[in-house]
Amino acid sequence: MMPNKMTHDLALVSMATGVILSLPANGVVVFPIAAGMLAGIALSPDLDVANRRPRTVWNMYWWLYSKLIPHRDSLSHMPLISTMIRLIYLPVIPVYAWLSSTGHVSELGEWIFKWCVVGLALADCLHTILDIAFSYWRNR
Ligand SMILES: [Zn+2]
Repeated sequence: MMPNKMTHDLALVSMATGVILSLPANGVVVFPIAAGMLAGIALSPDLDVANRRPRTVWNMYWWLYSKLIPHRDSLSHMPLISTMIRLIYLPVIPVYAWLSSTGHVSELGEWIFKWCVVGLALADCLHTILDIAFSYWRNR
């Protein structure tokens, strides 16, 4: 049994809430981190099965990605690497790199982008940990 989308999403919302509640200790950085975590609801590692999901525009966009990367492959589930691959496919990183190279990203924009990516990478870590934990419990 794998954790379903609802389990993953509830875990993300809980983690993002916890991060926001740490505002007094960590300052405003908690907001872009929590935003990145919540982006993990749409940018889930399980987009590698988008071709098996209902035909929404979002799943159709990820169809090629899901055809190229097998389900639960390290390319879709390895924290950081899979985060970067999805952000390139989207294509958030190429657009950001272009905007940055042409001087269209302010220092504040750079700071927000960086911490959002950190939040998304943390969301991917949580996703993979849940997948591994559920696999472990299933096989006990
Ligand atoms: Zn997964």
